[in-house]
Amino acid sequence: MSHDDADGTSFADLGLKPELLGALSKLGYEEATPIQRQAIPELLTGRDLIGQAATGTGKTAAFALPILQNIDRNDAAIPLALIVVPTRELAVQVSEAFFKYGRESNVRVVPVFGGQPIQRQLQALKRGVHVVVATPGRAIDHIKRGSLDLDAVQTVVLDEADEMLDMGFTEDIEAILEATPDTRQTVLFSATMPPRIAKIAETYQRDPITVKIGRGTGDANPKVRQSVYMVMRAHKASALGRILDVEAPTSAIVFCRTRTEVDELTVTMNGRGYRSEALHGGMDQKQRDRVMARLRDGTAEILIATDVAARGLDVDSLTHVVNYDVPSAPESYVHRIGRVGRAGREGVAITIAEPRQRRLLQNIERLTKQSFTIEKVPSVADLRTKQIEMTVNAIRDALAEDDLDDYDAIFDQLDVDFKKSDIARAALKLVHRARGATIDDQEIPDASDWKNDRGPKGKGGKKKHKRDDRPGSGQTGGKRGSRPRSDDGERGFLHVNLGKNAGLRAGDLVGAIANEAGLPGSEIGPIRIANHYAVVGVPDAAVDDVVRNMKRTTIRGKQARIRRYVD
Ligand code: ADP
Ligand code: MG
Repeated sequence: MSHDDADGTSFADLGLKPELLGALSKLGYEEATPIQRQAIPELLTGRDLIGQAATGTGKTAAFALPILQNIDRNDAAIPLALIVVPTRELAVQVSEAFFKYGRESNVRVVPVFGGQPIQRQLQALKRGVHVVVATPGRAIDHIKRGSLDLDAVQTVVLDEADEMLDMGFTEDIEAILEATPDTRQTVLFSATMPPRIAKIAETYQRDPITVKIGRGTGDANPKVRQSVYMVMRAHKASALGRILDVEAPTSAIVFCRTRTEVDELTVTMNGRGYRSEALHGGMDQKQRDRVMARLRDGTAEILIATDVAARGLDVDSLTHVVNYDVPSAPESYVHRIGRVGRAGREGVAITIAEPRQRRLLQNIERLTKQSFTIEKVPSVADLRTKQIEMTVNAIRDALAEDDLDDYDAIFDQLDVDFKKSDIARAALKLVHRARGATIDDQEIPDASDWKNDRGPKGKGGKKKHKRDDRPGSGQTGGKRGSRPRSDDGERGFLHVNLGKNAGLRAGDLVGAIANEAGLPGSEIGPIRIANHYAVVGVPDAAVDDVVRNMKRTTIRGKQARIRRYVD
């Protein structure tokens, strides 16, 4: 069933060379974003281009990949491409992106920006580079000094052009463009297109094609309750846990952007006691089937997936869809939430956004013609209230059933020595606990009144968060979530005969042990995966059981041999 999905385009379809495809696949990119899909083929032909798409839609790769495609490791190390960006952070970020994408092609990239000793940049430029990523002022400095040779430049990209003009760099940009060969390809990326940009385009571009990521049409499902929470990246995993605790989904699918994010979040959530399974394009059909079976039979409660992997997925029990990141293409939001609320059932769509993704939220609002209200991440008090409510409802349901007589024998034994109300309260305690209602006391900072990622409204300050502080196992959220490890006893260790070279990931081990040996995810860990084997911690008392139960287990399609690890 793929009729309700956006057409995914793989990077291979765009005609990119194997080195680039290899690098992208290592990064976990599964398909091109809309701007990439439309801009890359045009840029590959050498055409001038004006690209317009919101922040976070993957514009960097849209211009970096075509540039990298045309640079050969054997090319003389003189600047062939010049990227002009407004800020030093962006210069670093964009050159890191070039480095990541071009890793397998040995392309040399250098960022050049004000504030860094010019001497160092002079040396780097002298040693030879293929791509220069520069802020306008520093680029001019180097041009004047004669240290930036632009004679061989084939492509100039103005990234965040609107921002640069707003910052008063118009003259610098014009001077930079004048200093490059007339034969160059000129590419202009901008989130908005004010007249001043049009003027630059008119003067310096030749027959540019405009690629604008339109809003398309979409119709959000009215049966679906939609909630948006605003949190900083570092708190996202904790926020997800808290929201899931309060929402108590029957089963949920959590969407991430990349395979890497899927794997990392799966480990993190399993570590926090949520039975999670990863699903992404790197898995074979057998693995996918196994994961889906676990979701359907309730062995897993959360499926963590990329858009591609979840394509065509149709799970009856699915009650919640979570966007762990705001999708860059507003259409994917509509597709994602279309997974719940089917056949008249109710569903919930949750979006965890970072303040810098406000623009993306607005795009979705425009497409779906509705506006989001940003909700506060549930507090500890909210969670308690909710858990009490759930226990009360469970008791009410039990009272409504007519099998209470079955418990008379137990009640009568206690009734001799204790007050009825005390017996009831002790039973409540057990029920409440068994429902997983152990209370965590960690408040999760809410970022809904942050105007952007620089700090609360009205205040500047606070440094931009680094982009790559992704949720890693154990790093996020400080204290453990609401389901701490129940065993405070000694830990024992398992030796597994599969390791990195078998493609083994921590999530596989947690999944396999949780399912085959019936151990909750929260009791599994720490996990160390070496090249040829892995070591997994479990409660010492459970080691022999696990070994026995996992005699005939396959992980990642391979026979796993598991034994007690003694070091
Ligand atoms: P923009 O310049 O449009 O604001 P970026 O180029 O900075 O966006 O990309 C935003 C994020 O999306 C980055 O973390 C990047 O690694 C990621 N990204 C870009 N393209 C893809 C893709 N095709 N699949 C998954 N993630 C992607
Ligand atoms: Mg950008």
